[in-house]
Amino acid sequence: MPNETMRAVTVYGPNDARMETVPKPVASGRMLVIKVSRTGVCATDFSIYTGESSFVRSGEITYPCRIGHEWAGVVESVGPAVTRFKPGDRVYADNFTSCGHCPACLKGDYMNCTDIHSVGTVNCWDGCFAEYMLMPEWHVYPLPDRVSMDVGALIEPASIAYDAFKEVTLGPDSTAVIYGTGAIGLISVWLAKYYGAGQVILIGRTPSKLERGKQVGADVTINSRETDPVAEVKALTSGKGAHLVVETSGSPDALKESFRLCRRYARISVVSFYERDLDGIPMDHLVLQNLKIIGAAGCYGNAENVCAIMQENPVSLEPCITHHVPFADCLDVFEHESKYHADKIKVMIDFD
Ligand SMILES: [Zn+2]
Ligand SMILES: [Zn+2]
Repeated sequence: MPNETMRAVTVYGPNDARMETVPKPVASGRMLVIKVSRTGVCATDFSIYTGESSFVRSGEITYPCRIGHEWAGVVESVGPAVTRFKPGDRVYADNFTSCGHCPACLKGDYMNCTDIHSVGTVNCWDGCFAEYMLMPEWHVYPLPDRVSMDVGALIEPASIAYDAFKEVTLGPDSTAVIYGTGAIGLISVWLAKYYGAGQVILIGRTPSKLERGKQVGADVTINSRETDPVAEVKALTSGKGAHLVVETSGSPDALKESFRLCRRYARISVVSFYERDLDGIPMDHLVLQNLKIIGAAGCYGNAENVCAIMQENPVSLEPCITHHVPFADCLDVFEHESKYHADKIKVMIDFD
């Protein structure tokens, strides 16, 4: 059995990604081998591929890197100590792994594990641009029948967006503004509506993506190429501004605008990377308006919570997926990105 192989994509350096035949992982102890069904392509995968990721420049992500951290699949084999899963189970997983036996892990505080690895990124645990994944049982969860493999592969980005709404109360009188029409932007729209925001405003620049935003719950869309978002949001809120802004676009201008289109005591949740330090943030405005700004990068526990919302929310996240590409062709997505660019939200890599 140790001689079995699989295909996997590894990034060896900027603009150097290779599809290779590598050893297939082997289940042992509390580890599972999972056959990947779907892998979502993330902006982070692109920034590792191009070398533009700030984590590549800081040395926290090193090459070679087996990329990919958004996925769902089917259990193929289990180690002898695995108790919760059997071959054939549909599953999803956390975007990190822990050792399972250090003092933090023994308390269930996996994010403070002394041997933590991020799947496909920092201190890389081999990622899901591969036919099979090896995962510890305690980071794997059953995927409910009601949640498709496609949507299951969106649990990871949804678990990031989930942080943007923690400690926020939204009601019929609340306005939530979402910047950005990528997958995390659309998932934020979907969450804002699920949490009861009376008015959800999506700001972007591409009409086809704004249209998909309406399919997941946006009440109003603003094309920032044509309309000034600050004036428009003020007009839509009787001059007061938004209660919550979720900035997912990664545009420094969007972040600066966020300060100006929210009301006093509002919350700004930042769910994107800018890949550099930013100048020109209007801090005095934040102080004067008693604003609160938080960074949202996801944390342990979010994945199960968003999966539960997917199960009960009648609104599907399928409109986030704009492209399906067979795994055999997945390098094309990186090497010829412009082919996909205009209308791309989430590209899903299909393994079957
Ligand atoms: Zn991602
Ligand atoms: Zn540990």
